[in-house]
Amino acid sequence: MKIFRSIQEIKAFRHESRLAEQSLGFVPTMGSLHEGHLALIQRAHEENDLTVCSIYVNPTQFNKKDDFDKYPRNYEADFELLRQFPNTHVLLPADDWMYPQEPLLKFDFGYLETIMEGKFRPGHFNGVALVLAKLFHLVQPDKTYFGQKDLQQCMVVKRLIDDLSFGIQMVICPTVREPDGLALSSRNRRLNEEQRARALLIPKLSQEMLAILVMADEETDFAEARAQIAQDLKLQGVDLEYIELVDARTLKAIDPLEDSSILAICIAAYVDDVRLIDNLIFATTLEAVDLNQLFS
Ligand code: AMP
Repeated sequence: MKIFRSIQEIKAFRHESRLAEQSLGFVPTMGSLHEGHLALIQRAHEENDLTVCSIYVNPTQFNKKDDFDKYPRNYEADFELLRQFPNTHVLLPADDWMYPQEPLLKFDFGYLETIMEGKFRPGHFNGVALVLAKLFHLVQPDKTYFGQKDLQQCMVVKRLIDDLSFGIQMVICPTVREPDGLALSSRNRRLNEEQRARALLIPKLSQEMLAILVMADEETDFAEARAQIAQDLKLQGVDLEYIELVDARTLKAIDPLEDSSILAICIAAYVDDVRLIDNLIFATTLEAVDLNQLFS
């Protein structure tokens, strides 16, 4: 397993792999790898000759310094996990070559900046797009792999790739969960046992919202259901930031009884100072949802 620590190293590697006509799958991460990340790497490994996983806690996508400072970093353990995948290498960017000066370029993703993650984390998607645009230029992958868990991020990345003609295929992989339903997240490492028990309310109440939706008729008051969920969470020590019912293809809020056949419930909540997100996607028809057709 190679570890690239400079622009020159990754560029030379990609140059050579192109000459050898080797396809390359790219998995960008912020490290503290868990089974969710490993599922993306496994898929990349299966579909490409070579895989590159980047590990970089990107400062420009954090809108709170404290969140950035407390983000877990476990490089040695990450390398150990990655060693199990043949032909898989690590890109380890450093701040001084990623951001040698304060970037002037700003991305604006229109309405995506005003809803859910865009609304509650101002500047977040600008930072995500900035770092990914740089990494895509350096790595020049054929395919890149993202998790459904960050659904809105998937849409931002799809638009970044399309709008800037990167010519990279984006693959969205399903959310990997603990057996009890909690979505895996590097941030879960910051939870003690008692906090983790509270965090479990996030998938539980998302499921509850889903049940309400499935049973819904004209009498169903979604605003009331949402207020009830917020209250239930609050009483049990979880601060809801949002829970939205959206069209899974546009992420715009919808009236579930009237529009759309593919819906998503998206949720963000705090367990003390740890912010967690999750989502459920489902079709109102019997057809299975193809994650990779969502934003096409
Ligand atoms: P992060 O390190 O949090 O930036 O995540 C890197 C990639 O892993 C992103 O595409 C995430 O959506 C994906 N990811 C994170 N958690 C999960 C999970 N539980 N299941 C599937 N993918 C995930």
